Amino acid sequence: MNDKPLSSPTNSWSVGIGILLILFGLGIAAYAYDSTTQIREALAEEILEQQHDVSALIQEYDGVMLALERKRFSSTPENREAFTSAIHSAQNQLELMRSHYSFARLDGAAKAHSYVKPILEDIQQWTSQGIYDFSGENKFVLDVAAERLQERYPVIRDITLETDAVATELISQQTDSLERFRDSLLLLIASFVILALALAATLIRQRNLQTRLAAEQELVAHRLIDAETRGRQQAEEAQQGSEQFLRATLNSLHSDIAILDKDGIITAVNTPWRKFVSGTNTQYKDGGVGHHYETVFKATAITELERDGVSAASKQISEVLNNTRDSMFYEYPCHRDTKRQWSLVSVSIFNTEDGRHAVLAHEDVSERKRLEERDRRLRAELAHVSRLTTAGELASGLAHELNQPLTAITHNCDAVMSSIDADSEVGTELVETVHDISEQAQRAGSIIRSMRQLVRKDTADKAPTDLNKLVRETVRLTAPEAREKGVNVTLLLAENLPWPVCDPVQIQQVLVNLERNSVEAMWQGNSTVRELSIETSLSGSKWIEVCVSDTGPGIEPEFFSNLYTAFQTTKDGGMGLGLSISRTIVEEHGGRLWLEPSAEGVTIFKFTIPTEQE
Ligand code: ADP
Repeated sequence: MNDKPLSSPTNSWSVGIGILLILFGLGIAAYAYDSTTQIREALAEEILEQQHDVSALIQEYDGVMLALERKRFSSTPENREAFTSAIHSAQNQLELMRSHYSFARLDGAAKAHSYVKPILEDIQQWTSQGIYDFSGENKFVLDVAAERLQERYPVIRDITLETDAVATELISQQTDSLERFRDSLLLLIASFVILALALAATLIRQRNLQTRLAAEQELVAHRLIDAETRGRQQAEEAQQGSEQFLRATLNSLHSDIAILDKDGIITAVNTPWRKFVSGTNTQYKDGGVGHHYETVFKATAITELERDGVSAASKQISEVLNNTRDSMFYEYPCHRDTKRQWSLVSVSIFNTEDGRHAVLAHEDVSERKRLEERDRRLRAELAHVSRLTTAGELASGLAHELNQPLTAITHNCDAVMSSIDADSEVGTELVETVHDISEQAQRAGSIIRSMRQLVRKDTADKAPTDLNKLVRETVRLTAPEAREKGVNVTLLLAENLPWPVCDPVQIQQVLVNLERNSVEAMWQGNSTVRELSIETSLSGSKWIEVCVSDTGPGIEPEFFSNLYTAFQTTKDGGMGLGLSISRTIVEEHGGRLWLEPSAEGVTIFKFTIPTEQE
């Protein structure tokens, strides 16, 4: 929010105009003062001059009066009295004139003429007609006075007239100046009023603006406070939400989970962990939150075996917490609700703003262990069956091979017996011996025949079988070997396949042989791409076709003719029986097994099983 003081262009203008007006007003005042001063000075000069002249006139007049005074005593008493009053009147006039004649009163100068004039008229009258018995012999005094006055009069009159004119002019000038001064003052006052109004308006506006600004600022401050409060609430809600989420997530897990800080102190647990800990040790009813995991974890061990397991696991957990290893997994047998189980302890690290934390998980892996055990047993059984089948095939081959020499021995014995003279003593003994040989040969033949009978699988346990399920199970059993040899297995199983009647163990043997051949070929051939694919499909309506393909090096064409021949192998330690046994088994089931003329880089073996047994 911008809280700088407002500075509008109007304010600057107002201040500028105000200053200009003040300067203008001061200029006018100075001009008016100057012109008034000039007028006053000029006026004072004029008045001084006039005063001088009037003083001179008065002195003259005084002189006349004095002369008259002197003559007064020679007059008659009546005249004397009248003369005295005339003199008094004249003196009064003079006094009046003096008193009116001053610098302060301009009109006094103007009126000087009107005061002097009657005196002059009196004197004129005295000089022409005589006064108070002053006649011919006294005339001199009057003449002198009159002459002097007559001389002075026009001057005085001119001066007074001029003074009148100047005074009138000055007065009008001064009036003009005063009027101008007044106008200027009025203008100045008006300007001041306008300026004051403008300033007042500006101040009011500024004040309004400030008030509005203050109100807006207050509003904004309120909004900010609201937003902050809301933000804090939301953050609190979010934190609560994430805590609830964490708790819900933890509780939704079936494993026993404890969250540890970097020092191994338990900071949070889920319900299963709480049950696990409190089930064996009532001391930690809340799952041991706030305690070191090792103390809590060790308190769950009851037997010696469990204690060993927990100790070994704790050692590894500490290593993870100390950052000397990334993660750990440890399995040990443990008790849970009076039940024995296999538990897997694992720790994984996560980092937050608060630092390093760990998730300690304790889960029941008994079921996985059981399945692993079953798989191991099945693999052992499969290997056993495989060995048995191999032995059977071996026996069958041997029987086949031995049957002919044994038959030949029997035939030869028969021939020897018929050609021997039975009557001779030597002959009897020889016949018995040859007979024995023949009998033993026949016995050996029947033993071998019965052995062949046995390995011809007449006793095979056939039943309707879900081939897809059989494939999946086989892949699961052989998965460890495939994983170890870096082979990726893909299944492409057709849906809704009919269930053929077959011996699942024998068909599984075929699948294992083909799959193992592929895996070994890719591994031994060091193939860069190691993909094994097993596909099931319906071929026509009568056959189920199983296709096993790999990205191994393939088979040399020279070896094609030996492929199904027993004891023919290209592997070190190979028996060369797998394909021959497999073909025998498949053919026993009425199907066919062959090597598909395949595309570049892919080796494909296929076999079929009839959907219905004849
Ligand atoms: P063994 O596996 O004991 O050698 P088999 O009869 O199963 O006996 O295989 C015979 C020979 O056929 C093998 O030695 C191998 O050379 C060859 N063979 C079988 N399957 C494959 C295959 N998928 N890729 C390459 N060669 C194969």
